Amino acid sequence: MMRKLLFGFAIVVHGICVPMETALAAEVTDKLILVTLDGVRGEELFGGVDLAVVKHFANKRSLESIPAYKRFWAEGAKERRVKLMPFFWGELMVKHGSVIGNQELGSVIHLRNRVRVSYPGYSEILAGLADDKRIKNNNPVYNPNPTVLEFLQEARGLDFHHVAAFASWDVMRFIVQQAENTLFTNVGYDRYESNDSTIKLLSRLQFEARTPWDSVRSDSFTFRFAMHHLESYEPEVLYLSLGETDDWAHDKRYDRVLESIHQADAYLSKLWRWIESNDEYAGRTTLLITTDHGRGKTPFTWQSHNDKLPGARNTWLAVVNPGLEKRGEWKHHRRVYSGEIAATFARFGGHDFQAEHPSSMSEIEFLFHE
Ligand SMILES: [Zn+2]
Repeated sequence: MMRKLLFGFAIVVHGICVPMETALAAEVTDKLILVTLDGVRGEELFGGVDLAVVKHFANKRSLESIPAYKRFWAEGAKERRVKLMPFFWGELMVKHGSVIGNQELGSVIHLRNRVRVSYPGYSEILAGLADDKRIKNNNPVYNPNPTVLEFLQEARGLDFHHVAAFASWDVMRFIVQQAENTLFTNVGYDRYESNDSTIKLLSRLQFEARTPWDSVRSDSFTFRFAMHHLESYEPEVLYLSLGETDDWAHDKRYDRVLESIHQADAYLSKLWRWIESNDEYAGRTTLLITTDHGRGKTPFTWQSHNDKLPGARNTWLAVVNPGLEKRGEWKHHRRVYSGEIAATFARFGGHDFQAEHPSSMSEIEFLFHE
């Protein structure tokens, strides 16, 4: 299933309404993949290492004694970001897609929710609305609103393994669905059942190679289980949620944040290679990459994100679709909200999420214009 999106427009000619179909740039794809990188700031995505933050992190040490600084520092912002995310900036955004959110270019995407912690952020992305009255924190309760993952499962009549969510954070089981076991989930320290000997070993190792956090496993396991699931089941809808970037930030380990972003970039590269090497996915996949919230902007606030820190509302969104010709960074458009991602994701799959769920936000319309 691959075609140009067609919108039915009505034009008025001499008082008579004439339906007209207008071809739009994006293509409907049968495969839809969403990736989120928890709490990755636009500062790092668009500018690489933040000098003020790394200086504060170094404290009395020399910058040269910080391995992550030596590895990722460069004078210009564009050189720094390529060092930090060589696949994203050197290939994905050059050859295949575009990104919203560089505020220096007049491209702004904000959270609509005012809580600005993870559950409300992910729920805004997946359910297409801010629900601050009911979603105030990260408590593990099932989502009160339908998510676009559930919607796609229903709209396409997909079976259990064909809409799959893999996450490093265990609360994601509750965010992606309204009730238990609606979708296939493998989150936090969940075993992944497989006959593959490597995956069996990894499934055991995640309990031996613990992170410092009880609710978040290493992205390394999450990514490999997701890839194995892709190979085994070829799901139409996959959600991969990486989490380490946020937890290292809360622990004030800026060096580990940088390394985790760099590692996530390597995972994106592996995912993309796989997509391109698989006939069912190559040229037939939409890939969206985003984050659930920003963080504070200063050396004293970058670790945190909440309703008091304005920087925490800043997000970003990368869009890859075989029909969309835009490359690199978007400039000077109306303000976008993360709540528009749900309907946008569905639209790339040829479905109208908002028609079914009118309280959700509509899609990012300028992605669908020539
Ligand atoms: Zn988060």
